[in-house]
Amino acid sequence: MNTFPLPRVSNQSFKNLTVLARVDFNVTVDEKNRIRDASKILENIETINYLANQGAKILLLSHRSTEKRDGQKTKPSFRLLIKEIETILKKKLQLIDICTLSRARKEIATLDKGEIALFDNTRLHPGEETCDTSYGRELAKLGDIFVYDAFASYRPETTTVVLPRFLPTFVGFTMEKEITMLSSIFHKPRRPLICIIGGAKTEVKVGIVRRFLAVADTVVLGGSVANTFLKAWGIELGGSLVDEEMVIVAKELLWLALHSRVALELPHDFLISKIGSSKSIRIASHTKIRSGFSAYDIGPATCKRYSKIIGEAGTVVWNGPMGLYEREEFRQGTLSILDSVVSSSATKIVGGGDTITALPKHKRKGIDHVSTGGGAMLVFLESGTTPPIEAIRKYHHG
Ligand code: ADP
Ligand code: MG
Repeated sequence: MNTFPLPRVSNQSFKNLTVLARVDFNVTVDEKNRIRDASKILENIETINYLANQGAKILLLSHRSTEKRDGQKTKPSFRLLIKEIETILKKKLQLIDICTLSRARKEIATLDKGEIALFDNTRLHPGEETCDTSYGRELAKLGDIFVYDAFASYRPETTTVVLPRFLPTFVGFTMEKEITMLSSIFHKPRRPLICIIGGAKTEVKVGIVRRFLAVADTVVLGGSVANTFLKAWGIELGGSLVDEEMVIVAKELLWLALHSRVALELPHDFLISKIGSSKSIRIASHTKIRSGFSAYDIGPATCKRYSKIIGEAGTVVWNGPMGLYEREEFRQGTLSILDSVVSSSATKIVGGGDTITALPKHKRKGIDHVSTGGGAMLVFLESGTTPPIEAIRKYHHG
């Protein structure tokens, strides 16, 4: 039975049509404007090639994150990245200004079937982030059909939630994969279902801790999120990174966990050192961290315990590093979790900007699904949807 909730590109012919395709090319670049990691662009290739092979004219839309340079906000252009994106896609690309749609229309008219144009950073248009309806209506007139394949671009903007209102809309292959894999966690998952949450953004992660305390078998915590929960339990962690404002929420969740059948696992040893220092690193129990010291990674006994839990899992969902992984001395906890996840026979789903950065590329193959959405994955896991998915459902009934 086909239970996929949205119209898919694979069920549609795009012959002779002009397609507005929302992708996520929001890559990070180095100081010479070279793309650091092409994964984001590669994720959209399947959909782009599918449309091109069917003879559609393809108009790609993507934002690039606003940067702060010298205290000034700047919206970077795709101009300097075009050559590299052409190499990655193995296709010629025409860059189109997003701010003057009348000129864009003329340029689009010169494209042949199967050819591709990329609009410059969608956020350069003042109507993008404000979800301007009349801008959306004008932009929609440039195409016959809208394809949304940018799971990570989940914020409500004109090219994510307004375009579905004005055009027949289909989701691409990346969306299909994300929705299928992330939904499978909640639909009869292989048990035990283990959810590992780490990292530093405790405020946005307590939501999925709450959700998994209702549906998982074990919730495993690490990173600053775990510090915040330990603090809520009355344990002093010296100068360790704690989200003080979230302590109260963590306290509530700890009590809820006590009353649920779900086990909540917290670290009981850490790698600690003097605050801000990498010297004289030692292992300490969670109850023995004095002021002036900070926990920067989970310790070996915790790694061993977590590894055992992961080894017995049927499904593992992981978001957030276990420690300050950017420093080699404090990377071991995260790498040990990774090895346990990769070698377990569970269905493995991993996401999060930093979490993925912490995964050596050759180990990514050992994971069933590496989500393209950091924030989007959290939103989807917490609420079962994202704003663009809802927009498509609203206007196209799925
Ligand atoms: P993700 O991007 O995978 O969702 P977050 O952005 O929430 O993860 O958190 C990643 C950050 O958390 C990293 O910069 C990492 O150094 C930091 N972090 C994790 N644990 C600690 C810790 N114990 N002390 C300081 N920083 C930590
Ligand atoms: Mg992050």
